[in-house]
Amino acid sequence: MTRVLITGITGQDGGYLAEQLLDEGAEVHGLVHTQDGTARALADAHPRLHLHGGDLADAEGLRALVAGVEPDELYNLGGISSVAYSWEQPVLTAQLSGVAVAVLLQAAWELQERSGRLVRCVQASSSEIFGQADRSPQDEDTPLRPVSPYGAAKAYGHSIAAAYRGKGLHAATCILFNHESPRRPVTFVTRKITAAAARIAVDGRGTVELGNLDARRDWGWAPDYVDAMVRAARHTEAADFVIATGQTHTVAEFAEAALRRAGVGDDWADHVEVNPAFLRPLDAEVMVGDPSRARRELGWTPTVDFDEVVGRMVDHDLELLREGE
Ligand code: NAP
Repeated sequence: MTRVLITGITGQDGGYLAEQLLDEGAEVHGLVHTQDGTARALADAHPRLHLHGGDLADAEGLRALVAGVEPDELYNLGGISSVAYSWEQPVLTAQLSGVAVAVLLQAAWELQERSGRLVRCVQASSSEIFGQADRSPQDEDTPLRPVSPYGAAKAYGHSIAAAYRGKGLHAATCILFNHESPRRPVTFVTRKITAAAARIAVDGRGTVELGNLDARRDWGWAPDYVDAMVRAARHTEAADFVIATGQTHTVAEFAEAALRRAGVGDDWADHVEVNPAFLRPLDAEVMVGDPSRARRELGWTPTVDFDEVVGRMVDHDLELLREGE
């Protein structure tokens, strides 16, 4: 039975990843930082899911966890995942999303040396490592030019994974472009929009306040991206893989799609307001990935298109409102 360790198991991607691996029959271990009711409920229902309390800032604890679990596969999904929050906590971001990667990879390396077994590691890297990219679309050879504490920490994690790969560890990275689901927290612009769209549709009034409406992003469906990480772990060669749809849409288009899906109709624009407070200090206008390598080598392809991603999120938010009534 494959034994797997996931950091960030309580997050959007960690939950989907745990579910996929449990369905496949794996024994899943997860690092849990704060007490999360959903993860606990899943663990209670699932004898092959084991949760371990701990903190990515605790290097000794991480080493002991990897040594104790002895995973065949290690997925590092934990850390600060919000660009905006990383500006509030730049040092913590460096620690959790940067330094912790080195700690985990070193622990995996030591386990591999001790056991003589391959430890397959996947680092959840990010399109934010490209920052103000010098080319579009971005691929695995695009130079790293992060423009936020989050992007800088992820760039370090990305680079240290390559260093351990050079040393002989199966350390793959998935350079994840934005991916969404109903499990996205409302602190992210996409879920903020879908939650607001549902509320506006129910109340028949109200607005959603946004920053740069023209920012273009490449938005995919979270479970697809998790599946890519599993494929990267199990691929013969460890490598960097851009995971993206290759299609972009603006924040305005996201808002239009969400408000229309919620049933607001042609006057959707009356419900969108620009608030300069939500503009980022430095923001890439266009982020779009070229997933050719993942398609070619991992046989990976996105299965849910933009309208359906937005639609599933809006439907979920409408459902939540109905349940609350
Ligand atoms: P998420 O929902 O924000 O989850 C982050 C996870 O990290 C949570 O489980 C959180 O647990 C955990 N964590 C935070 N601080 C921790 C600490 N001190 N010790 C241990 N765990 C801690 O993120 P996601 O959207 O699933 O993303 C997964 C990974 O992909 C992240 O590394 C992110 O940077 C990367 N990524 C995501 C996207 C995207 O569009 N979603 C795009 C590019 C890259 P608590 O809640 O208990 O603190």
